[in-house]
Amino acid sequence: MQLWLQADVIRRMRRHMLRAGSREIGGMIMGEQTGDQQFRVVDFSIDATSGSPSNFTRDAEQHDQALAEFFKTTGADYHRFNYLGEWHTHPRFSVHPSLQDVHAMQDLVDGSGGVDFAVLLIARLKWFWRFESSAHLFVDGYVPSAITQIYDN
Ligand SMILES: [Zn+2]
Repeated sequence: MQLWLQADVIRRMRRHMLRAGSREIGGMIMGEQTGDQQFRVVDFSIDATSGSPSNFTRDAEQHDQALAEFFKTTGADYHRFNYLGEWHTHPRFSVHPSLQDVHAMQDLVDGSGGVDFAVLLIARLKWFWRFESSAHLFVDGYVPSAITQIYDN
């Protein structure tokens, strides 16, 4: 699987990350399927207030609204534009998913919530500027697998 992170998406994430400092922030990522196993991050939601320096859990209601808004602007074309997964930052740790992150994502794709697969994107700024990220794919019943990321900046 390939995940395409466009320059404007990275720029917007970076702006939120700079503002949040050492606090973890995050939300959902919305994507466009551009090919077989190829996705582009189109938009993301952001909860800049719930996180602590070592933990982030998003507010469900606020993000449901963001997703509804996304469906509206993309014309409810769910096959092409849909919820892609979650993102959050690790300002003080490596971008590798923590055990807690893995468990949260496995719960998300366990079949109870109608989500078949989900991507976890973790980002940090190195030296206050350089955007660094990891992306993993979670599918119910499978071990998480690393996703190839494509940056265009
Ligand atoms: Zn994490």
